[in-house]
Amino acid sequence: AKGGDKGTWQRYRPELHTEMVKRLETRAALHEAIEDDQLRVMYQPIVDLHSGEIVAVESLVRWQHPTRGLLGPYHFIEVAEESGVIVEIGGWVLREALAQLAAWRAADPATTLRYVSVNVSARQFRTPGFVDQVRRAIADAGARPEWLLLEITESLLLRDADQVAADLRTLRALGVRIAIDDFGTGYSSLSYLRQMPVDVLKVDKSFIDDILGSEQQRALVDAIVTLARNLDLTVVAEGIEDAGQRAALAGMGCPYGQGYLFSKPVWPGEIPALAHAMVPSP
Ligand code: C2E
Ligand code: CA
Ligand code: CA
Ligand code: CA
Repeated sequence: AKGGDKGTWQRYRPELHTEMVKRLETRAALHEAIEDDQLRVMYQPIVDLHSGEIVAVESLVRWQHPTRGLLGPYHFIEVAEESGVIVEIGGWVLREALAQLAAWRAADPATTLRYVSVNVSARQFRTPGFVDQVRRAIADAGARPEWLLLEITESLLLRDADQVAADLRTLRALGVRIAIDDFGTGYSSLSYLRQMPVDVLKVDKSFIDDILGSEQQRALVDAIVTLARNLDLTVVAEGIEDAGQRAALAGMGCPYGQGYLFSKPVWPGEIPALAHAMVPSP
């Protein structure tokens, strides 16, 4: 009907019911997924935009669902956040990613892989004992703190800023580095960059998408790259899909990038071969 569903009363909509049932099912099944080893990690290369060398990988969780097939985070991360299962999932990904990097490095001591990037949800970061969990994961994997970059989002910095900053300082004192993921898409003010000990800005794909088509977008990314340089932060541009975008970013002095131009996320076995095939800037 005209006017949509703006009134207090809404017509019963079967698709909403289905959605709710699906969420409850997902929630229950996620517990099982961890128990039954159904989670997987894919890795996407992070590339030196000048030399084309793969310097790192980002770990991206997947769910090998027994009936629904291989599921990306879009299908379950939100439910995992709401129910708190994300704390367990995140801890598992952290241990898995560190062990994987240790394995790659042991297999090829001359590897160009310097670190693995791991996404940390705000809820996971705020769980008491998180810093100790990171410390233990590094030790258990036989890894070094320098091998780990934790990706947090701006939303984490909005609440309990003093506690968050203290934890970030502890992690950094260990040698772990911190990135702001999806930089520029959050609501926080830039002033946190002065107070928060961070090392890397990951420029969100939405800024990169139209970097060739729009003068404004280009100016914005250029400003972020300059800001980062002046604050002694490094930059990774996300979602680079074509050579023109890469060239534009390299021209601005953006040092690192990731995106389908270089590689989609792949299974761990595929990384060593990719790490040998460098793609120098034209
Ligand atoms: P993100 O951290 O911003 O990760 C980048 C996403 O963009 C990944 O999607 C990646 O596959 C995709 N991507 C990379 N390059 C390109 C490109 O050139 N074009 C396009 N169209 N997409 C590209 P994915 O793997 O589906 O992950 C989605 C989100 O799920 C991630 O966004 C992250 O927020 C979340 N996530 C993934 N793994 C974890 C995890 O272990 N823990 C937590 N808390 N969140 C995770
Ligand atoms: Ca990320
Ligand atoms: Ca991101
Ligand atoms: Ca993103």
